[in-house]
Amino acid sequence: MKILPEPNRSDGAAGSAAELRSWKREIAPDKVVGLVATMGALHEGHRSLIRRARQQCDLVALTIFVNPTQFGPGEDYSNYPRTRDQDLEIARAEEVDLVWFGNSDEMYPDDFATRIELPSLSAQLCGESRPHFFAGVCLIVLKLFHLFEPDRAYFGEKDYQQLVNIERMTRDLDLDLEVVRCPIVREADGLAMSSRNVNLNPAARKEALALSRSLFRARELWMEGEECPVQIRQQATALYSSAVELDYFEVVDRDHLVALERIEPGRGAVICVAATIDGVRLIDNIQLEPR
Ligand code: AMP
Repeated sequence: MKILPEPNRSDGAAGSAAELRSWKREIAPDKVVGLVATMGALHEGHRSLIRRARQQCDLVALTIFVNPTQFGPGEDYSNYPRTRDQDLEIARAEEVDLVWFGNSDEMYPDDFATRIELPSLSAQLCGESRPHFFAGVCLIVLKLFHLFEPDRAYFGEKDYQQLVNIERMTRDLDLDLEVVRCPIVREADGLAMSSRNVNLNPAARKEALALSRSLFRARELWMEGEECPVQIRQQATALYSSAVELDYFEVVDRDHLVALERIEPGRGAVICVAATIDGVRLIDNIQLEPR
């Protein structure tokens, strides 16, 4: 397994982007390259993406970079868990070919000026409370796509709005790669796996279950014939205790992320939820399949 930048690199000036290009020239021509982009603190959700890439590609590149442009002032950039050694162990166990650690100064020099915006997909849901977020995500993902030139890039449905933004950017800008959707991996009790879960104390960890439970309940209501988002929301979130500071619970169209007044049985929908529990912001979602 190759690690970039080289741990004992002597010429700091070469830069990880330059090292990456030379790695690609030597190793990657004519190979199918799969990219798994992460912020580290790897868990089973990330592993499922790596495994899928391992099955479908000749080379698997894993990026680990806590991307500053997707965090706003007062958010958890400095608290975000960073577990380099453990991540490298997981990458080795999953037979990753290349692990690349991003460097903020190199990715974003002082006079960096470019922005990537998808206003119709990024203003709602998480975008309401995190207006900078998807522009930051799309910017780093587009940079990674250019640096790695992957044939396939693997993203989790756990971050559904992010996935839809990345898919649309890929289509709109005619990027020559396939974005592969990977299903949400959950703990045995239903909590969606997230790097932020380690910041939940035992009491908050219990409260956090309210999110997945409300989504499972919402799907049941849908399967029983309920088509009204207001009714679904009311009944599903009735389970929440005061520990759950709800940001949103929205039934939206799967492709455009527009809030629905009624769910058309033949089209289905997706329900996205976000809440803060004891200072930790969590998101989750569930697909309402057409019926
Ligand atoms: P992150 O490190 O949180 O930025 O996530 C990196 C990638 O892993 C993103 O594509 C996420 O959607 C995906 N991911 C994170 N958690 C899960 C999960 N529980 N199930 C599936 N994919 C996940």
